[in-house]
Amino acid sequence: MTDFRKKISIFGGTGSIGTSTIDLVRANPDRFEIYGVTAHSNVAALAQIIAEFSPEIAVISNPESYSELVALCGDSGTELLAGEDALVELAAHKVDLLVAGIVGLAGMNSVHAAIRAGQNIALANKETLVAAGHIMMAELAQSTARILPIDSEHNAIYQCLISESSSDIKTITLTASGGPFRDYAPADLAHVTIDAALAHPNWEMGPKVTIDSASMMNKGLELIEAYWLFGLKPEQIGAVIHPQSAIHGLVEFNDGSWLAHLGIADMRVPISHALGYPERLAWNPERLDLVSLGNLEFKQIDRALYPCFASAVDVIGTNPANAVILNAANEVAVDWFLKGKITFTDISGLVNRALDSNVNHAMLDTLEDVIALDNDVRQFLDAGN
Ligand code: MG
Repeated sequence: MTDFRKKISIFGGTGSIGTSTIDLVRANPDRFEIYGVTAHSNVAALAQIIAEFSPEIAVISNPESYSELVALCGDSGTELLAGEDALVELAAHKVDLLVAGIVGLAGMNSVHAAIRAGQNIALANKETLVAAGHIMMAELAQSTARILPIDSEHNAIYQCLISESSSDIKTITLTASGGPFRDYAPADLAHVTIDAALAHPNWEMGPKVTIDSASMMNKGLELIEAYWLFGLKPEQIGAVIHPQSAIHGLVEFNDGSWLAHLGIADMRVPISHALGYPERLAWNPERLDLVSLGNLEFKQIDRALYPCFASAVDVIGTNPANAVILNAANEVAVDWFLKGKITFTDISGLVNRALDSNVNHAMLDTLEDVIALDNDVRQFLDAGN
């Protein structure tokens, strides 16, 4: 019997996006088959995925974890690979959909390889477009690859734009929950704890993106991502705080019409759109109850309360190097914050120090240039602390 299941590869299979994707695959065994799966170093979780889904290939990107993976899964029949090069190799293996769920710049080379290989890419990794949007979009224009965004806001906009023409778009608006500190005054942020910053009111996500949501760097990075993804001018792209997180994205057209996308705050909704596309995947999500929702509120984003957001917005449409510096400095700062080395407000301080520094702002022609600049920023910050 012919197998009509979609073959998928899941990059970052043990992370937040990967786990949600696997939930949907598990609920639809007749629709999907996992061809490849990757993890960075969580061998136990990767071994469970291998045992349950018997993929063709599994990659552990941290080579130090390889022997442990072989000990657990050596007899599984799954080909086991290790290292960054193996990620790039797997990304070129043709599948029906490649889910790019690796967090950070670590996901960039595999997304690039997937674009070159003409894959359909369900893109969750923001840093790929934030740091190398100009390179990726140029490559995408030469390729048969397609990007289906699964960041919830971009997926919302994408859905609003199906069968629309980009010249008809006046503006797009991403919504932001405002994070746990949305009712704070800027001065109150000086004393917030790691646990408070990790307590996101609406979404359950990994720690890096949860801290980025509290600072709203996440929304700033998403605007940079949207700038590349939708090919609009900086002034056409904006964000508002919408505490209910019911509307995820809106498009305003030149004729005065607006389209908005609503859904529950569950990453499986945008992921299921990408998995099913161009069809809709039936699963059993919690329903969005309009009546118990009652009100939809919108508030302007206060740049003084969210200085990380302000810095990110200011780099949109400037030299792409600025976004690399912003992103790298933020990754370092969030890591330091989570380790208790700096305070929450130090995050924006470090980001701005890196942006104002004299690290090389030369034009970035290749991914190697991007990675070199990323390293320079990390060294610059390390040297100062
Ligand atoms: Mg998002």
